[in-house]
Amino acid sequence: MYLILFGAPGVGKGTQAKLISADYHIPQISTGDMLREAVGKQTELGKKAQAIMERGELVPDDIILGIIKNRISQEDCKNGLILDGFPRTIPQAEGLSKLTEALQLPAFTCIEITVPEAVIIKRLTSRKVCEKCGMDFNPVTNPAPADHICPKCGGRIVTRQDDNEETIRKRLKVYHDQTAQVKDYYKQHDHFYSIDGNKDVEAVYQEIKSILN
Ligand code: AMP
Repeated sequence: MYLILFGAPGVGKGTQAKLISADYHIPQISTGDMLREAVGKQTELGKKAQAIMERGELVPDDIILGIIKNRISQEDCKNGLILDGFPRTIPQAEGLSKLTEALQLPAFTCIEITVPEAVIIKRLTSRKVCEKCGMDFNPVTNPAPADHICPKCGGRIVTRQDDNEETIRKRLKVYHDQTAQVKDYYKQHDHFYSIDGNKDVEAVYQEIKSILN
């Protein structure tokens, strides 16, 4: 199964990708997680990406396509994968199409998750994440433990640098200006579905599963 989870920041792509990954035994490929890891390790890529990410802007397409090419050519992607946070521009979508052709992968299914903007802002301003495994915490349904240690992997639970209101608004603007149009690309080229993400995690997951099955 080759899946793209599409949607604005904060709609729940990462949370749903983790559930699908565990259930269907295919890797979650999050360009945001890969970039944050590079920033944490201060690699060449991390140094280039850090300031761009802190401003809520997009890392250049050639860099992102390089990371994706490297990642989806690996052995664990042979039976499927879930893309989370990629593609975010038309050139990225076109690059992915070329790559899938070259690697002889099946067509992608694209599932868009939608959530009203006011809900997104509320979710992201109160979100905490594990800096090691990326697990999300929020005060309503899944509060972070008092010691701020991830119960799953023992990593530190932190607030993401770009989860402040000013940067969230910038990320949403970037989404509307540069990413939303990618939806039309998938409507034309591949299987495309859209679901309501303004429900609890399990209800959204059941809807995704009904599409996948
Ligand atoms: P995310 O974790 O998906 O919200 O991504 C966090 C940040 O990483 C974004 O605001 C961008 O700066 C950068 N980023 C992640 N994925 C991409 C992508 N596909 N293209 C460009 N920049 C990206």
